[in-house]
Parts: sequence; structure tokens; C-alpha cells
Amino acid sequence: MRIAIIGAGPAGLSMAFFLEKAGYTDYVIYEKEDHVGGKCHSPFYNGKRYEQGAIMGVPSYYALKEIIDYCDIKPDGPELKWVYRDKNGSYDDPYNIRQHPENIEEFAELRKEMLKLKELLSTKYRYYDINGHRGVSKGEYHGYTNDGLRTKVDGYNPNLKDLALPYDRFLELNNIERTSYIWKPPFTSFGYGYFNEIPAAYVLKYLDYQTLTSFNKRDLWTFKEGTQSIFETLNKKLLHPALLNQNISYIARNNKVIVTSNGKEETFDKVIFTCPLSHLPYLDKEEEIECFRKIRFMNYAVLSFTGKTEESYYVLDNMTSDRLGHVMCMYDRFKEDNQAKVAYILLNNDEYGLPDREYTNPSTAIGDLKTFNSDISETLDYKVWYYFPHIIPKDYQDGWYEKVESIQGKYQSYYAGEIMSFGNMDEVCEYSRQLVMRFF
Ligand SMILES: Cc1cc2nc3c(=O)[nH]c(=O)nc-3n(C[C@H](O)[C@H](O)[C@H](O)COP(=O)(O)OP(=O)(O)OC[C@H]3O[C@@H](n4cnc5c(N)ncnc54)[C@H](O)[C@@H]3O)c2cc1C
Repeated sequence: MRIAIIGAGPAGLSMAFFLEKAGYTDYVIYEKEDHVGGKCHSPFYNGKRYEQGAIMGVPSYYALKEIIDYCDIKPDGPELKWVYRDKNGSYDDPYNIRQHPENIEEFAELRKEMLKLKELLSTKYRYYDINGHRGVSKGEYHGYTNDGLRTKVDGYNPNLKDLALPYDRFLELNNIERTSYIWKPPFTSFGYGYFNEIPAAYVLKYLDYQTLTSFNKRDLWTFKEGTQSIFETLNKKLLHPALLNQNISYIARNNKVIVTSNGKEETFDKVIFTCPLSHLPYLDKEEEIECFRKIRFMNYAVLSFTGKTEESYYVLDNMTSDRLGHVMCMYDRFKEDNQAKVAYILLNNDEYGLPDREYTNPSTAIGDLKTFNSDISETLDYKVWYYFPHIIPKDYQDGWYEKVESIQGKYQSYYAGEIMSFGNMDEVCEYSRQLVMRFF
């Protein structure tokens, strides 16, 4: 079987890796950029690599672990530490009981709610953390346990339907609203949006209890050569490294798949799309158009700069929708003045279209950094990512995922990558692994 893979980000490259492991060795990976890695992008500056895209993993990233082990890469990057600041730049850790003794009762309630949520996730919402979204809106679960053992499970748990609710509604339903306080920094500041807009399924499948615990304990992986180096190494080890600078003008899909790229036609039996699905003109079947036009995304900006050394920080005040355009966190990877530091800014979702004029000017963010006493010597880059493709709660509830999963394979085509699971390295690699197990 000859297979075309579109996109050489984590999803596409891991797809090739898992296909090879399953004995499928005749494939071609098409990548439109001049490099692999997609949103795992680690440019060089002053002899070191900084992170313009993905930064970190956790020990429960089992699919990524399989890949880094295969590539002989260790999580050998700088330790991640951070402080909390308010929007005026003052240091204020709202999670520290010694700094906020007046909140002692609130902390006690929060602790109770955290325990309750932990209990609910292992009982009422058992199997909430299975990769992907197959059947969830109907109260079904299909896949492999997310505990490192990867036991195959299929079944019915009607409570899982609650995962289609916006996350704040889900918390309200279960009387555990305070816990949003703990989940917010690694969700909203990482560009994934606000809890009143995003289905609970995305929040909990990404920030499952294990992942959140690792985050709170600072038990995190970073990589000295950057996350991109994982996928560059994987690409080199594949039987067929990705073809770069590919401009695909058309993909004809009948009994065979004919990919026309850079003016050259190649014939395949199957095609696997791992790149964003909402912008591909050749996904032209009516049911594809109907589904993929519903995909939403975030405009998430990364401002890289050099300047006075400071600590990485979060700004909780800026993680609300009325503070779009403000810095939500800053990552000081090497803590040296002449190394790149990176600030993260949520602009808006796609309602107003792709990034335009107003986003090319990071003046609000630069103003914030000055307030926080970052002495910016040089702005290196300002990149706005097409980020976190997702669907809204109503479409989730109406069975969007069941529809798309039901057409997997129908047009000799398979769909993987972020929208099918979640926008992080491990979820997309795990989805690729399971897609190969299901269909190949
Ligand atoms: C700022 C930022 C911070 C992040 N932090 C983390 C983190 O700390 N931890 C974590 O796990 N994840 C993080 N992520 C998310 C993670 O990087 C992504 O979820 C992951 O890279 C998704 O992999 P993918 O292959 O599905 O998509 P992508 O990485 O987007 O790759 C898609 C690939 O397809 C290519 N492509 C697109 N269109 C075409 C076409 N028409 N033809 C051919 N090729 C095409 C693209 O060029 C790209 O190479 C972060 C991302 C960003 C931007």
C-alpha cells in the first residue's frame, strides 16, 4: 500500500514512524515549509535554540516518550520555574497561603473541590482521558487507557456526554467551580482559550489529572536543543524523510489518490491529512466541507526578545477575554541577557479572520513588558500562530467527532493532527499511533 502523508509536524512524522512499525514502508511525507516540526519550532539565537512553539512535556506523554526513546533524546533542557505577577508587575502568588493568609478558608474549600474532582474523574467520568473524541457526545469511549499500560477499552458511560459542555458549565454542574483556578494558567495562558467557550473534553483530555499534577509539581520536560530537534531527529531516522517546500495544488481522490505537488503527480492508495483541515481547497467532498468549515482556531502570538534577565512568570490578571493582546506569561529559558526570551499573547479566535494589521503591532505586549521591568534590547520576532483548532460546545454536542470519525477512510482519506485530538505534542502523536492501529 502506497500512502501520502500531508504535513511534517509531530502528527505527520509520528504517523510515518508508527506506519513503519506496523510494516507500511511505502509512504511519502509532503511538507510545505523548508523545515519539519510544525509548531515545534526552535530557532537558533546566539548559539542556542529557543522555543517559538512547543516548550514542554510531562512524564505522562507516553507516545512522545516512545519517540524520544527511539531518537535517543533525553529531557535535558533547562528547569522550568516561574513566579506570579499581577498586571501592574507586582509579585503576587495567589496560590501561596503564606502570602494570602486571609484566604485560608477559600484554600480549604479549593482543596476539597480538587479531591472531589479527582474522585469524579476516576468514577463518574471514568475513561474521560482516552485520546481523541470518538463517541464521547453519545456517552461512549473507544481507545486505550492513558496510564502507560494502554489497555484497549470500549464501552458506554453516559456521564461522558457532560464533556461536551463548556468547561465552566461542567464545573458548575459538579459544584467544583473553584478548581478552575488551578486549571487556568496551563490552559488559557497556553493559548487554548477561556472556560466559557471551550468544551470540557479538550480541557480534561489535555490537562488530565496526571498532567495537571506534574505541572503543579514542576515535574516537566524541556529539551536542550528544543522540541523541534525531536522531530528533526525522527525525520532523519525515517526510511523516507519528508519532502520539503512542497506546494500541493491538487489531490484527486477516486479509487486511487493522485497528489500534484510542485507540478509533479504521484499516485497513492491512501492519503493521511495531518495539517490543518479548514484551509485545504482539495478537501472538496460535501460532508468534508460541511464538517471542516466548523473548525475554529485561536490567534496565539509569540513575541521573542532579548533583554535584562528575569524570572519566567504568569500574569493571571491577563487571562481573561477583556485582556486580549496582553502578555499572559513570559518564558526566560536561559536566564542570560543575550539569550531570547518569549512572551505569549492571546489575540482572539478566528471570528474576525486571519491575523491582520492590528496584530502585526505588538505594542500592547511591549507596553506590558516595560511595566514588568523587562528592558527590551531587541525584538527578535513576533509570530502569530494558527493555534488550537477546535469546535464549539454545540457542534461537539451535535456529534461533530462522530461524523468525522465515521468518514475516516471513506475517500481513501484519513484525518489526524490537532483537531482530531488536541493541540499538543503528545495528543497528536498518540492519535497517529491509534489511527495506524485502527486502520492499517
Ligand atoms: C507557542 C506554542 C506553544 C506550545 N507549547 C506546547 C507545549 O509546551 N507542549 C506541547 O505538548 N505542545 C505545545 N504546543 C502545541 C504543539 O506544538 C502542537 O500541538 C503540535 O505541534 C501539533 O502537531 P501537528 O503535527 O498536528 O500540527 P503542526 O505542528 O501544526 O504541523 C502541521 C504541519 O503541516 C504543514 N502543513 C500545513 N499545511 C500544509 C499543506 N497544505 N501541505 C503540506 N504541509 C502542510 C505545516 O507546515 C506543519 O509542518 C505549542 C504550540 C505553540 C504554537
